[in-house]
Amino acid sequence: MVETCVVVGAGVAAFGFVNTIREAGYQGRVVLVGAESVLPYERPPLSKQYLTGKKDEDALLFQPVSFYEERNIELRLGTPVEEIDLQRRVVRSADGNELAFDTLVLATGATPNRLPVPGAELAGVAVLRTLADARALRAALAGAERVVVIGGGFIGCEVAASARTLGKQVALVETLPVLLGRALGVEIGSAITRVHERQGVALYLGRRVVGIEGRERAERVVLDDGTTLPCDLVVVGIGVRPVLPAVVGDLRFDDGVVVDATCATNVDGVWAAGDVARWWHPRIERFLRVEHYDNALAQGAAVAKAVAGQPEPYDAVPSFWSDQYDLTIQHYGYPVEWDEIVVRGDLDEPTFTAFYLKDGRVYGAVIVRRPREMRPARRLVEQLAQVDRTLLTDPSVDLRQLLA
Ligand code: NAP
Repeated sequence: MVETCVVVGAGVAAFGFVNTIREAGYQGRVVLVGAESVLPYERPPLSKQYLTGKKDEDALLFQPVSFYEERNIELRLGTPVEEIDLQRRVVRSADGNELAFDTLVLATGATPNRLPVPGAELAGVAVLRTLADARALRAALAGAERVVVIGGGFIGCEVAASARTLGKQVALVETLPVLLGRALGVEIGSAITRVHERQGVALYLGRRVVGIEGRERAERVVLDDGTTLPCDLVVVGIGVRPVLPAVVGDLRFDDGVVVDATCATNVDGVWAAGDVARWWHPRIERFLRVEHYDNALAQGAAVAKAVAGQPEPYDAVPSFWSDQYDLTIQHYGYPVEWDEIVVRGDLDEPTFTAFYLKDGRVYGAVIVRRPREMRPARRLVEQLAQVDRTLLTDPSVDLRQLLA
């Protein structure tokens, strides 16, 4: 009997999986079941080049349909899974069909949080996660003059930058005192905040939205201090939460599907990868859930090797980049609390490499406009290097000399 591996979700992690599974030697049946009706595509351009019209939809697909045919990967797109029965080992999709599996890969990703205020359901209030969301937002942006962005995380900053690039008036509301503060900390977040200010984004920091008003569509965003921001379009980017269909059976879920260092769940033959997976990172010995492209792709590939019979601890250093205006913000490292951030270069310009130190070790690095420092900075994080902070901050010291 040929065994069947069902992948639930057809996003970035699922693509990482199918891109590797045959090379890894797996000969069973592979079925990819996805809610969206498009082939797996690249998500990062949705808030950047796709929104500004520099990339079109065709350029977003990872691979054409022939890629899946050649690898004998069955596609069931546009069929959201409604229930996973771990006892009978079947998944049931919205059309009522059941599909039996021997091996199951959960790559269901995450879904945007909704703003819990009156008016959040009005027309003209958008989120950005899927290609369908991006299509709608691109069209709405074309007809909008005044855009209010709610949330100063990745979506908020990238959409604000794209909208300014398109010449729109942009106001951005964020609850923290700086942009990207949660991911990058106050010092680095301040540097990014200044970039947006200089680009003409009207910032409302430390403020909360209490309502969105309008007759048929969003016309005004109201803040907690009574400020009213007139708008034609509102974009909400206030974080995501991991999603799973209903599960029958005892799957460990705790803000994500809990998996071990090899990405195996507590249920035999069931694995998880990407935004939905909370895995035990063997190098830093704690659970992590990472909501970025690089991780989804690499973790999907790691699960493919495991399913093909070569499980290995997945210990990649998380990384992401974010393009905003002419800046690329490159980050390597672990989303853990740090004791101190040390900087070489100029935060104000901004042209810098910053290191996040915890217990004297390099747990993270963010690089802006210093491309030659990317590789050594990444290596320092990989090594959790213990380096004298004065050497890290001295721009005349070549980072490569600090590697073990
Ligand atoms: P995010 O990066 O987690 O940022 C959400 C931001 O919204 C946070 O700064 C949060 O502040 C703020 N916020 C929460 N509630 C708010 C409210 N009521 N009013 C105003 N601000 C509020 O999430 P995201 O920007 O929505 O992005 C969604 C996902 O896509 C994330 O997983 C992200 O990593 C991913 N993504 C990644 C990239 C990239 O890697 N370049 C690009 C786009 C999207 P608090 O921290 O105070 O809650």
